[in-house]
Amino acid sequence: MKVTYNKCPVCNSNSIGPYIECKDYLVSGELFPIYRCPECQLEFTQYHPGEQESGKYYESVDYIPHSDAIKSFTGKIYYTVRKFMLLKKKNLVIKYTGKRTGTILDFGSGTGHFAITMKKAGWDATGIEPDNDAREYSLKNFGIKAMRPEEMKILPSFSFDCITLWHVLEHLHNPFQSLSEIKRLLRPNGILIIATPNNMSFDSIHYRHLWAAYDAPRHLWHFNPVSFSYMAGKAGFEIISMKKLPFDVFYISILSEKNRGSRIPLFNGLLKGSIFFLLSLFDVTRSSSIVYLLKHSESGKGNADY
Ligand SMILES: [Zn+2]
Repeated sequence: MKVTYNKCPVCNSNSIGPYIECKDYLVSGELFPIYRCPECQLEFTQYHPGEQESGKYYESVDYIPHSDAIKSFTGKIYYTVRKFMLLKKKNLVIKYTGKRTGTILDFGSGTGHFAITMKKAGWDATGIEPDNDAREYSLKNFGIKAMRPEEMKILPSFSFDCITLWHVLEHLHNPFQSLSEIKRLLRPNGILIIATPNNMSFDSIHYRHLWAAYDAPRHLWHFNPVSFSYMAGKAGFEIISMKKLPFDVFYISILSEKNRGSRIPLFNGLLKGSIFFLLSLFDVTRSSSIVYLLKHSESGKGNADY
């Protein structure tokens, strides 16, 4: 049973229509239409498999690092970049919460690398992760006991200084329900951090249907600052700042070059990625992905009609 939207899932507009068609390059080779809402600029994957059937589209997505991969040259680069990114993410949390230590919830904690980074820095870190293997890995390797998403409801209200979703929101089948739960869990002065690809980035406009961050049908929602701000407002949050994750544009450009069948995807991806990176230095709203820093909105609880 394919999921079909007759109106915009964010702003309820009836004017939605097909925009482009994206291939699932990673697993199935199937085509998925991406629809666009002219009112709020949201793009979303139409006719995607529902939550129950989505598992097979994640089958070749391996979350557990293997020792040979770690030893290889590209593996070494990957792990150096990841270390740098974990540090950058930690610094964002400390800067925007204004706290050296506190309570943090990493929603979609995967193998637990970010949660353990925060734990080592003195934070009380909790993970939420649907994948069984990833949860086991984080417990075995880091002593981080991640919860299943359905267990979130037992967490006490207003118990976190910070809640993070690093490239997770675009995968959620019911992001509005999750945001409402996150709103309950975040302290009144807490900070919500959401990183997600940006469909008005220079790389997205350049690659269009080949843009790797469409990643259909795993990515269901394709935001930009306009649509994201609309959704956040409706969920009872307001954006206080936007930042970029500097390496995303290179990674996405290399993958997009592979999607277009380039014979030298690494070279072309790094070259074009550098140009997109330099251009976006002057305008964060055009960067490949955006880290949104949010707080509870002043105006009240948000609209509960999701
Ligand atoms: Zn809309």
